Amino acid sequence: MAKGRGFAGGFEMRRRVILLGPPGSGKGTIAARLKTEFGFEHFSTGHLLRQEVAKDSAVGRQVGLFLERGELVPDELVLALVESTLAKSRPEQGYLSDGFPRTLVQASAFDAWSGTRGLAIEQVIYCESSEELVLSRITGRRSCVACGHVYHALFVPPKTVGRCDECGGGLAQRADDSEAVVRRRFQVYLRETEPLVAYYKDQENLTVVDASQSLEKIMARIEVMLRQ
Ligand code: AMP
Repeated sequence: MAKGRGFAGGFEMRRRVILLGPPGSGKGTIAARLKTEFGFEHFSTGHLLRQEVAKDSAVGRQVGLFLERGELVPDELVLALVESTLAKSRPEQGYLSDGFPRTLVQASAFDAWSGTRGLAIEQVIYCESSEELVLSRITGRRSCVACGHVYHALFVPPKTVGRCDECGGGLAQRADDSEAVVRRRFQVYLRETEPLVAYYKDQENLTVVDASQSLEKIMARIEVMLRQ
């Protein structure tokens, strides 16, 4: 595939990027680092959906139960949300997705949407992680209720306990981060989302990252990969 290039920090870099991997594999943390270090436009469908629930919007009322149970929200709703989100941003300058696509239907719909606009995905980063690692990470995870920035009590603590470094919002544990729901989300991931690894491998734009490594090692590898 021809690689279009954006520009970041004086060096060329791939700017249309998908983060793929199970819940708790570090996608949100990686996305936040790519945003602060290289100015990526980041979106997380999980965060967007939680915002809809918090607003008690029409979409929020439809999706609340799916989120609580750790099940996937229907494809049509997610695709409409992603399209309206990208329409409000500047996808031609790049996009960084955390948590989308999550099904083959979403992946092929996004390929069609992005392909017709000359905005095809340039890099899929697959954060490979075991169920046990995911569980140990998620129990320490805290997210900003206002902006969605993700912290970890041990690995990525905020500067002030309970407060977001980015916006000063309060930090909380997500309702769906309990062990039982995380185990269910992992099963849903294996069934619905893991097939995307083969899908993107076939498109030759997938790179595997070992999510058990330190964040610094992972970021160094990702930076090299995005500049290739
Ligand atoms: P996340 O914050 O990415 O872990 O997502 C939290 C929850 O939002 C998931 O367990 C799903 O219920 C829902 N969700 C997020 N992204 C998607 C998606 N692309 N497709 C379907 N459901 C999603």
